Amino acid sequence: MDIVENTIIGAGVVGTAVAHELSKAGREVFVIEKNPGVTQGENQSSRNAGVIHSGLFYDQATRPLKAELCPLGVRMLYDFCQIHDVPHLNCGKLVVATAEKDRPNLEHYMAQARANGVEFRMLNRDEVAAREPNVQAVGALDLPSAGVVEPTRLVHKLYALSSNHGAHFLTHTELRLIRARTEGFELI
Ligand SMILES: Cc1cc2nc3c(=O)[nH]c(=O)nc-3n(C[C@H](O)[C@H](O)[C@H](O)COP(=O)(O)OP(=O)(O)OC[C@H]3O[C@@H](n4cnc5c(N)ncnc54)[C@H](O)[C@@H]3O)c2cc1C
Repeated sequence: MDIVENTIIGAGVVGTAVAHELSKAGREVFVIEKNPGVTQGENQSSRNAGVIHSGLFYDQATRPLKAELCPLGVRMLYDFCQIHDVPHLNCGKLVVATAEKDRPNLEHYMAQARANGVEFRMLNRDEVAAREPNVQAVGALDLPSAGVVEPTRLVHKLYALSSNHGAHFLTHTELRLIRARTEGFELI
């Protein structure tokens, strides 16, 4: 039986990001991935819409960690993409109310943005039309920190950097069972 310091199950964006941080710090890392490859777009991290969310949608009462970490993570992600040449665009986002009945929702999200420390600006009908002529809305929340990233390139970059730092990626390898042992865990 091989004894390893850190084993990560799954090489999506979470697994590769954790592998990147640990390997950069000089720790021993093995990443187990059941798919045949890490960078071929097999998981949801490589097939999503690539939206960099501002952190607006997380309620402090029910999802306090996400409410705190998402706005922080946004800035870290832009920095990472810039440093490592991952295609991205800080284009901002409008959350729109298309009818008066939607306005309370907009106000709810405005309060949530304020509570989470997310930068925003409330736009009226004319301001929305000036910004996006093809959008008809009675108002909108303008979220300048939102954007898009090329998700496959992001996972690939995290994988490549981790590998360079000595992380081991075991593809075609599925974890079936974890047994708690006195010292650590046995992975099967
Ligand atoms: C349609 C869609 C659109 C989305 N759009 C966005 C968006 O625009 N912006 C955004 O921020 N988020 C978006 N998300 C959410 C985002 O994609 C996920 O939050 C994120 O990819 C989760 O990453 P992950 O690494 O936890 O999971 P995954 O990417 O699913 O990676 C998990 C990995 O673990 C492997 N695995 C699982 N079980 C085992 C096992 N037993 N042994 C070995 N390997 C295993 C899997 O094969 C997989 O590769 C979207 C999700 C979907 C489905």
